[in-house]
Amino acid sequence: MGYDTTFFNGDSDSQLVATALAEGRVILSRDTQIMKRRLITRGRLKAILIRSDEPAQQMRQVIDELALDSESRAFTICLECNQPLVARDKGEVKELVPPYVFKTQSQFMQCPACQRIYWRGTHWQAMTERLKKFVI
Ligand SMILES: [Zn+2]
Repeated sequence: MGYDTTFFNGDSDSQLVATALAEGRVILSRDTQIMKRRLITRGRLKAILIRSDEPAQQMRQVIDELALDSESRAFTICLECNQPLVARDKGEVKELVPPYVFKTQSQFMQCPACQRIYWRGTHWQAMTERLKKFVI
């Protein structure tokens, strides 16, 4: 959806809270305990308690509560490093994508950090369809 996100792999809730505060992040969690943290209850750190077990409903809740724009920002940042993608000419990516992709695609984007190339293939189409379902 084009929002800078990260999955927390640390050991403790304290680490999670400190990281979120330092990086200006919103915590998304199913853990009711973390919602009782003082930084969260006093509003210094935003956190959303995810209610549903269903990924689609979880997405719907996050989109609603954060008033996310689920369309215009989609596919604008790297899935791996959250960096804004840069448009690349077809000729620039010839050696970087599979021959079939080069033959069938015309628009390419590249992550300036990890150099990963993105194009609007079947994965992009499937993700677009899933995103559309969340915003209806
Ligand atoms: Zn990247």
